Amino acid sequence: MKVEELLRGKGREVVTIGTHATIDTLVRRLRLEKIGAVVVSDDGETVDGIISERDVVNGLADHGAELRAMMVSELMTRNVVTCAPSDEIRDIMRLMTQKRIRHLPVIYHGKLAGVISIGDVVKNRLEDMQMEANVLRDYLAVRQ
Ligand code: AMP
Repeated sequence: MKVEELLRGKGREVVTIGTHATIDTLVRRLRLEKIGAVVVSDDGETVDGIISERDVVNGLADHGAELRAMMVSELMTRNVVTCAPSDEIRDIMRLMTQKRIRHLPVIYHGKLAGVISIGDVVKNRLEDMQMEANVLRDYLAVRQ
């Protein structure tokens, strides 16, 4: 299965935050949207960075209570790994495991076109495995 098919099922909405937003705003957004990472984008279309709950935990260890007033740009990862709608989900799984990241922005013609999380990938794999098991069960039932 390709990223494009997965997006068709889950939707293409991407939660973004500006580089000048505070970490306080970011954590409220993470809680409100029930997500683990936000794409950083000042225009809502091009990717400036990504910031996840991991960055918040590391930031808390480094800066303590001052963290809340710091800007997203001070904590975000700038070198963002992205994927394309035509990429295969099995390659995405490998990439996430190798790079130890749980979120991949999807880019199409230079613009944000969705986000794939490790949760989406696991859900997709479980559905695939369930389908394979059902097909095998039906096949065995017919042969008996
Ligand atoms: P995560 O596993 O997504 O919570 O992210 C772990 C670390 O990798 C954090 O420092 C994130 O900022 C960073 N990160 C998450 N997703 C990406 C990505 N697609 N490209 C580059 N870094 C990322």
